[in-house]
Amino acid sequence: MNDLGFDKHPGYAVLKGLADAGHQAFAVGGPVRNALMGLPIDDLDIATSAEPTVVMKWAEAHGFKAVPTGTDHGTITVVSGHEGIEVTTFRRDVATDGRRAVVAFSDSIEEDARRRDFTMNALYVDVQGVLHDPLNGMPDLKARRVRFIDDPAQRIREDYLRILRFFRFFAWYGDPGLGIDADGLSACAELADGLETLSKERVGTELLKLLNAPDPSQAVASMEQSGVLMRVLPAASANLLPVLVHLESENGIVANPLRRLAALGDYDGAAHLRISKKQIIKLHNMETGLLEMVSPKQAGYRFGLETGRDIVLLQSAALETPLDKAAFSDVDDGARSELPLRASDLPWLSGPALGVALKQAEADWIASGLSLSKDALIAKSPK
Ligand code: ATP
Ligand code: MG
Repeated sequence: MNDLGFDKHPGYAVLKGLADAGHQAFAVGGPVRNALMGLPIDDLDIATSAEPTVVMKWAEAHGFKAVPTGTDHGTITVVSGHEGIEVTTFRRDVATDGRRAVVAFSDSIEEDARRRDFTMNALYVDVQGVLHDPLNGMPDLKARRVRFIDDPAQRIREDYLRILRFFRFFAWYGDPGLGIDADGLSACAELADGLETLSKERVGTELLKLLNAPDPSQAVASMEQSGVLMRVLPAASANLLPVLVHLESENGIVANPLRRLAALGDYDGAAHLRISKKQIIKLHNMETGLLEMVSPKQAGYRFGLETGRDIVLLQSAALETPLDKAAFSDVDDGARSELPLRASDLPWLSGPALGVALKQAEADWIASGLSLSKDALIAKSPK
C-alpha cells in the first residue's frame, strides 16, 4: 500500500478493519485512478462484500461513528479521523430506467465492477496494496483512454448522466492527443436526447465539475459537435472557452467553473440548471458586465472584486485581446470606491425625491467612470 500512500489516509483504518474482520474490502474508483496517475486524492471510497448492516455493526463495535447515508444503494459513511469514508457494498443492477437503478447486493468484485461507468474507474486496491483489475482497465488508464465498460449505448440507456460523465472524465483524465473515444462519442450523439429526462440539478452539478477541469475546451467542443451541448444549454457556443482558458493559463489565474459557464453564453439555460441562487446572481452579473462592456472600475464597483475580475477576463476573451493587468487594479479600485455623495449633502430634498436623486447621482457617477466629484454631483442634482 505504501506506493499509493493509502496507508496514511484516515480511511485506511476502515479498509484494514473490514479486511481483518474477514470481508473483502478495497479502495475503489476515483482515489485508485488518481493515485495510479500520480494525482492527488481526497476521499478514499471503499467497496466491500460486507452488507450494510454488517458494516454498521462492525463500525459500532470498533468505535467508529457510522451513518447510513445511502441505504437504498448500500452506502454507509464511516467517520475516521474526522473524515467521512463512504463504504459501499458490492452491487449489481437489477433494474435501470436511465435515471436511477434498483440494485442488489453482491459478493462479487466482478459484478460490482461491471456496473461502473468507465474502465479506468473500475480499479480496486486491497489492504496489502495489491491492484485488482477485473475488467482490464489498467491499459486504458495508462493510455489515458476514457472508455465505457461494455457497450456504450447500453450503458448510457441505463443512466443518461453517463453521457456528461464521459465528457467530464475525458476533460480531466483523457489524452487530448489521442482524442475522445469514437465509440463512446457516437453513442453519446445518438442518445443525447435522453439527457432531457435527467434532473436539472444532476446536470448542473456534472457540468460544473466538467468545466472545472484544467482545460475543458476539447471536451466541450466535442459536446457541441455531437449535439450534447445543445441538449443541456440550448443557446450555448463552445467558441469562447478555449480563448478564456488560454488567458487564464497565460496569466496564472485559477480555473473557475462559473466563469467558464458564463463563457458558453447561455445565461438563461444556465440559470435553469438549478445551481445555487448565489451562482445565478454571479452569472447574471457576468452577463451584464460582458454584454454592456462595462469598464473595469465600474465592474469592480457594481459587482465586487471577484466578479469584476471575471468580467475583465471574459471581455478580453470575447475581444481576443491580451489581458491588461492594469485592468485588475482598476477593478480593485472600483470595488473599494464609495459614492462620494450622501443624503445629508442634499438637505433640501427628502422622501422619494431624495431617493430618486441619489439613484440618479449614482448612475451619473458610474457613467463617469467613478470620477465625478461630490461638488459636481451636487451641482447635477435637482434643486
Ligand atoms: P471524482 O474524483 O471526480 O470524485 P470519482 O471517480 O470518484 O471521481 P464519483 O462521481 O465520485 O467519481 O464516483 C465514484 C465511482 O463510482 C466512479 O469512479 C465510478 O466507478 C462509480 N460511478 C459513479 N457514478 C456512476 C454512474 N453514474 N454510473 C456508473 N458508475 C458510476
Ligand atoms: Mg469521488
